[in-house]
Amino acid sequence: MARSVLVTGGNRGIGLAIARELARAGDSVAVTYRSGEPPEGFLAVRCDVTSAADVDEAFGKVEAEQGPVEVLVANAGITRDTLLPLMKEDAFTDVIDANLTGAYRVVKRATRGMLRLKRGRVVLISSVVAMLGSAGQTNYAASKAGMIGFARSAARELGSRGITVNVVAPGFVETDMTAALEEAHQEQIRKNIPLGRYASTDEVARVVRFLASEDAAYITGAVIPVDGGLGMGH
Ligand code: NDP
Repeated sequence: MARSVLVTGGNRGIGLAIARELARAGDSVAVTYRSGEPPEGFLAVRCDVTSAADVDEAFGKVEAEQGPVEVLVANAGITRDTLLPLMKEDAFTDVIDANLTGAYRVVKRATRGMLRLKRGRVVLISSVVAMLGSAGQTNYAASKAGMIGFARSAARELGSRGITVNVVAPGFVETDMTAALEEAHQEQIRKNIPLGRYASTDEVARVVRFLASEDAAYITGAVIPVDGGLGMGH
């Protein structure tokens, strides 16, 4: 039977590629979208992950349509880059709220159904900068590093119930998020990537599909880099 999948921030970028990849693999896929138009071909539920009420309502709709969520991909995320001396407190707390507390909200809500099912797959989309650090991104890097500690703790709590929790740490991926960087900065980044290029969204999505699959049944608490070698050794 098709599994019930939910991808947060699945209306564009990496999240949309993940949704397409899992749908191709035969799952019933729902996506959340916050703004703009919902993507075609999926059950789309409006949800801002900074609101616990939104998250609860979104899960309710997905459960009613396609059953309890068995595969959750916590992908929604934002950046608000500024050098630390100039960073206003709301730029820090907003990024933590969306990326880290948002992951807590959706994973916590997903465990309700997964604990009953006694199986589940949780994949969190972190970033290479969680371990590497990144000037101008103290807020973002802190949120992404926090996701790793969160995921590993959840993996310990939930392992005995047949639920795996893993982290994918992409490097630079061709999306709106990286398109916003200045070309000179992008060129500098490419020079530091052993594979010399950004990832496509599909290259990230295929790793998520693997972690969500039966082939990854014995992998939990892992951080899988998809970064062209950028973060090697971390
Ligand atoms: P995009 O900026 O293209 O898309 C971000 C997605 O997250 C959108 O769907 C957006 O919704 C959603 N989102 C943001 N904030 C919220 C919120 N509060 N509630 C619900 N949804 C929200 O990003 P990418 O596809 O590039 O990134 C996806 C994930 O991958 C992020 O977590 C990012 O940090 C991570 N990542 C990206 C890398 C890259 O190089 N692009 C590298 C490493 C990690 P909306 O359309 O409404 O804005």
